[in-house]
Amino acid sequence: MRLLAHLLLTWEANFNNYQSCRARILLIIQSQFKRFPNPTSMPINCSLCQVEAIFLFDAKDLNRKISDETFSYYRCPKCQLAFLPQIPENLDDYYSGYYQFPTLETIAQTAAGERFKLEMVQQFKTAGKLLEIGPSIGVFCYQAKQAGFEVDAIEMSTDCCKFLSQEIGVNAVNSDNPPEAIKNMAAHDVIVLWHNIEHLPDPWACLEQVSQNLNPGGILVVAAPNPDSLGFRVLGSKWPHVDAPRHLNLIPLKTLVEYLEPLKLKPLMTTTNDPGAQYWNRFSWQIYLMNCFNYNGKNYSEKSRLEWIFWAAIGYIISLPLALLERRNLKGSAYTAIFKKETLTT
Ligand SMILES: [Zn+2]
Repeated sequence: MRLLAHLLLTWEANFNNYQSCRARILLIIQSQFKRFPNPTSMPINCSLCQVEAIFLFDAKDLNRKISDETFSYYRCPKCQLAFLPQIPENLDDYYSGYYQFPTLETIAQTAAGERFKLEMVQQFKTAGKLLEIGPSIGVFCYQAKQAGFEVDAIEMSTDCCKFLSQEIGVNAVNSDNPPEAIKNMAAHDVIVLWHNIEHLPDPWACLEQVSQNLNPGGILVVAAPNPDSLGFRVLGSKWPHVDAPRHLNLIPLKTLVEYLEPLKLKPLMTTTNDPGAQYWNRFSWQIYLMNCFNYNGKNYSEKSRLEWIFWAAIGYIISLPLALLERRNLKGSAYTAIFKKETLTT
């Protein structure tokens, strides 16, 4: 029986294919053997559904190697949220050296390469007040400002806020609690979270405040890692977008859409195949290889240029046939979803 339990769990942790019936079986097995790293022995509940979550896997900080600690992720059998329930007290340490501050010229060049982000927004809004939550060094803020939007930003890094206000020239609010920070801000026509929602301890509170802040007819853009992706199914805890312990919540697209509906936010567009998502597909295979073939304890960004180019090329070649699968049925590594706040008349 123990062997059967072990096989089932290994299978589940590696392939993450959570049909509710198998999830229930695993929950029963967990309750029988209690071999899971939950030091409190208290049930761990999904932050959205409040149902008991199932141990998913142990993950390490493979991307940045800040420590050798292990982080236990869980998954909700109902909404499929994959999450890290025990957030490390020293989470700030895992962002140490996270931000590099380039020249404005480099920002402009990067922004030109990521023009698809602005074009996605401009399909639905071309002017007005725009808020970016978690802009980091502000490449998108720069794009939006250049395009004529009046740009606000909420950013947890003090250094980034200084850079955003002094170099990019936008109004930056320094806060690690976006739902609280938004309460004090005027309404916006566009709110964007480009790969930020997975970093938030309480994404639900943030989305609720976003919904309240948006003007009727305003749009919300959420881009995030996709826990329904092929990469997550195949690579499990070693999928670079797990990015333990910085990624706290991997929200399935379906769950996001269902959560936002009663908040009067209707999806206008959902994709895992935009240029950003395609980049993250390649990135996941390339960084997986770099993390696997690591002989000197350095993280992938510290590899020699030659070594980096070699693994990036191998990862790129591997990603080509896999792209045929990733580009179908919302199986890409990341999704981008655009929602519209209901107008007063609808
Ligand atoms: Zn749930």
